[in-house]
Order: sequence, then structure tokens, then C-alpha cells
Amino acid sequence: LRQLILCLGDQLNRDAAVFDDFDKSTDAIWMAEVPEEATHVWSHKARITLFLSAMRHFADGQRGSGVTVHYRRLGEHEHTSLASALAADLKRLRPERVLVTHPGDYRVYRRLKATVRAAGLRLTVVRDRHFFDSPERFRVWARSRKQLRLENYYRAMRRHHGILMTGDEPVGGSWNFDADNRKSFGADGPGLLPQPLRFPPDTLTREVIADVERYFPQHPGRLDAFDWPVTPEQARDALEDFVSHRLPAFGPYQDALWRDEPWLYHSRLSAAMNLKLLAPRVVVDAAEWAWREGRAPLASVEGFIRQILGWREFVRGIYWLRMPEYLDGNALDAHADLPAFYWTGDTDMACLRQTLRQTLDYGYAHHIQRLMITGLYALLLGVEPRQVHQWYLAVYVDAVEWVEAPNTLGMSQFADGGVFASKPYCASGRYVQRMSNYCSDCRYDPGKRSGDDACPFTTLYWDFLQRHEGWLRDNPRTRMQVRNLERLDAGTREAVRVSATRHRRMVS
Ligand code: FAD
Ligand code: SF4
Repeated sequence: LRQLILCLGDQLNRDAAVFDDFDKSTDAIWMAEVPEEATHVWSHKARITLFLSAMRHFADGQRGSGVTVHYRRLGEHEHTSLASALAADLKRLRPERVLVTHPGDYRVYRRLKATVRAAGLRLTVVRDRHFFDSPERFRVWARSRKQLRLENYYRAMRRHHGILMTGDEPVGGSWNFDADNRKSFGADGPGLLPQPLRFPPDTLTREVIADVERYFPQHPGRLDAFDWPVTPEQARDALEDFVSHRLPAFGPYQDALWRDEPWLYHSRLSAAMNLKLLAPRVVVDAAEWAWREGRAPLASVEGFIRQILGWREFVRGIYWLRMPEYLDGNALDAHADLPAFYWTGDTDMACLRQTLRQTLDYGYAHHIQRLMITGLYALLLGVEPRQVHQWYLAVYVDAVEWVEAPNTLGMSQFADGGVFASKPYCASGRYVQRMSNYCSDCRYDPGKRSGDDACPFTTLYWDFLQRHEGWLRDNPRTRMQVRNLERLDAGTREAVRVSATRHRRMVS
């Protein structure tokens, strides 16, 4: 065996650079399903199913085209970790070279390197050309900056890749169209929403579902609604469906929330991209073309492209810039436990109930649900960031650490002390009321700070401002919020503290 290519569950693209020199007659692919990858955080059943199903489809496709795939299937071997399965196979297969695409998870990266070294070989780590940028280029960009801010990075990426540009200027004369975006649905609601294309499980996925129910019966989540794309062809169809039916309204409603409507105008493409079933270039090109052909307005297309060319690449750069210390951040000194209802959805707070139940049903919540419902509540309650991180890494089908950790620890919990966020995303129940219809179905009042029917978000928000008043006053972006706090008299402040303490006791 000349070359053994290690192929992880989030590396399912045959056009990866690691295959450039692949020769079917002398080389082989190695893949393994191991319990540790489903249990190091308590993974949602849909997340496990998606990874295993996409892996098995990929392996079948490769075998079909005459490639040798050494595939370790769950239940057919005794190894619990990738490292132990790989160590055994390196001994057995004795490859001359071992290669892998740069893994997306620092833990896996370190272990693979150590395992290959222990077998007396060297692991060749190949650049991941799925992405527009690379960790090395991001490091160079970051070195020349006083502050790491998305906006500067995004503009540099637009220029460098010539996306939505005319010469050196952004098309439409503006880099962003926030004034047209970020709307709520208002009292009338969203009306009839286009339903996304679904991919009911085929025979292979049904086998995976049976395995997941057998080997991980106690894990969170349900599988009866599983309908995620698991092949590149399905991912392409999902992209086309999004561009034709939901992209035109994506911009205005990307921050809106609505009861019992999990998808709204979102693309549902994160998991397909993160597993590399779909290249971000293809997605960005499809969106740009839709605008050029007059099928979607610029505000929506720019808003969507910003998420992929901007945020997705930016957080990956931050992850590799700051690991491994990044996971230990706890800048706000938060030590509460994650409430148990995060795993069940059993709570009388309607916004959390909606978001959590939807998360458990589908392994999905859109960005504002993650940031401004589950994330905001954990921030205000003061949950230990590592517990929040482990929860997010477990429950979403698209969860892989390079994208999850900066979003959770940096953007949502401010645990990194502001490496790239200029302020903590803290808000009261009023924000939720403005952006959704959740509050009209809730026993709490988003306008009340204290008392039995005070909205816990609102109580905890004013309590958060009090607990962090000093440094929030020094930050120009939160100074206004502290000014509003300063207007409260001592009695009101005390009532907030009492209500907050009572609420904390109730959920702990
Ligand atoms: P859309 O709303 O349709 O957006 C289009 C695409 O843009 C997404 O598919 C995604 O690839 C990209 N994108 C959007 N926002 C972000 C962002 N903030 N960072 C990086 N990429 C972004 N995304 C993940 O892919 N995996 C995660 O584990 C993950 N964890 C998150 C945890 C928290 C606390 C928060 C606040 C956000 C997290 N996100 C994560 C980002 C975002 O919420 C999801 O990418 C998005 O909700 C996926 O749904 P969609 O494909 O319908 O996205
Ligand atoms: Fe959530 Fe508060 Fe609104 Fe209830 S009142 S849905 S807890 S924001």
C-alpha cells in the first residue's frame, strides 16, 4: 500500500487536495465509525445519523468507482476511539505514507498525529481547499490588525475573490444592506412559507437509524423527522431549492422568529457544507448568479453571502488562531450549571421551549434562536461557558468544533473577553418580543423586570447589567445600556436582584 488517505466524517469531498495524487491501483481510503465521536459530547441522534449516513454513502460511491476503502463500521469492531482503530489498521495495512486533509477539530488533529507517529510513520496534513481562506493566511491578516472584526475581513474577502464587486467597489454601492434586512414578521406573521425540499431516509440511512437507535438509545433527540441531505447530489438539490424559493426573502427575515416555524427563509445548508458535500464557492456563486439574473434582490444575496464568505471563514480563522486555549475562556467568570431543561425542552419560558423542542426534533435552530434565545439565556444566567459549548457541539446536525466554538464561546457567551465581538450580545425579553410571536404564548411578561410574572430574560438582563456594570460602562458599545440601568432607583435594582436569585434557584 503506497498511500493511505484518512477520511473523516466531515471530509466527504473527493475533489479535496489530499486526493490529487491518488492512484486506485496503489492507494486506499481509510474511514472509521467509532463511539467516541458520538459520545465525547452527548450527541443528538440526528447528528450521529447524518455523519454516519453521509460517510456510508461516500464510501459506497468510492467503492463503486473502484477505490479500495478500508471502512470500520460501528458494531463490527471493538475500538472505541479513532486513535485505537487507526493504530490497529496501520499495523495491519502497513502503508508507506499516511495523509489527511487538515482536520476541523483540534482534538482529532492532535490524536491522529500522535497515533501515526507512534506507528513509526509521519502524518502528511494537506491544506483544506474547501474553504476560501486558510488558517495561515488568516494569521497573516490578523497580525496586521489591532482588532479582529468581521466587517474588515469580509470586505477584504469580497475584494480578493471578486464576489459582488464591480472593479474595486461593492455592487450596489454599499457593503451591507442592514437597513433593508433584520425585520420581524410583524403582527400579520409570515403568511404561507415555502416548505424546504426534504430528503426522506433511503435504505442506507434507515440502516444507520437502526444502528443509532441500537448503540446510542439514550442520546438526545428524535429521528422520525430525519430528512437532511446526505449525498452531494441531494445537497445540490437543496441549494437549488433554497435559491429558487427562499433566498429572495432571506435578507429581510434572517433575524425573525416565529412559533412552530423552524425553517422560515433559512437555507438549511450548514451541515451539507460542513461535511463537505457542498462547496461554499458553489453556494456563493449560485446566490450571486441569482442576483445577476434578477431572481433575488441584492440585500438578500449580500446578507446570505456575508454569512458564508464572511462569518463562516472568519470564525474558522479565529478557531485556529486561538486554539487550544480558546476552549478554556471564561472572561465573565460564569460558573452556573446548564439547566437540565436544555436537554428536554421542559420549561414554561415559551421562547426557550420552542427553540429547545425544535432543536431536539430536528437538530436545527437558526442563528438568532441559537444566539438570542438559548445563547442569550445561558449568558444572562451565567452558565459556565464550557458546558454551553458542549451542549451546542452535541445538539446541532451542523456542529463541528471549528465553527461551533467561536460562535458559542466568542459571539454568544463572550467567554473570550472580546477577541472578535465588540460587546456581549445581551438583551432583555423586549428583543424577543420585537422579533417573534413567542411572548404572546408565554406566561411571563417581557416588559416586567421583577415579580412572579416578570420575564426571566428581562430580570436576568437587568441583573447582568448590575453584575457587570463597571466594565460595561467603559465599553462605548454598552455604555447606553448602563446609562439606562443608572436611571433605576435602589429599590428597583434590589427587586431585580431578588427576582434573579429566585429564578436561578428555580432552574438550578
Ligand atoms: P442560514 O441562515 O441559511 O445561513 C447560511 C449559511 O451561512 C449557513 O449554512 C452557515 O454555513 C453560514 N453561517 C451563518 N451564520 C454563521 C455563523 N455565525 N458562523 C459561521 N457560519 C455561519 N454553524 C455551524 O455550521 N455549526 C455550528 O456548530 C454552529 N454553532 C453555532 C452556535 C451558536 C451559539 C451560534 C450563535 C451560531 C452557530 N452557528 C453554527 C452559526 C449558524 O447559527 C448556523 O450556521 C446556521 O443557523 C445554520 O443554518 P442554515 O444553514 O439554515 O443557515
Ligand atoms: Fe421568552 Fe420572556 Fe417572551 Fe416568555 S416573555 S417568550 S420568557 S422572552
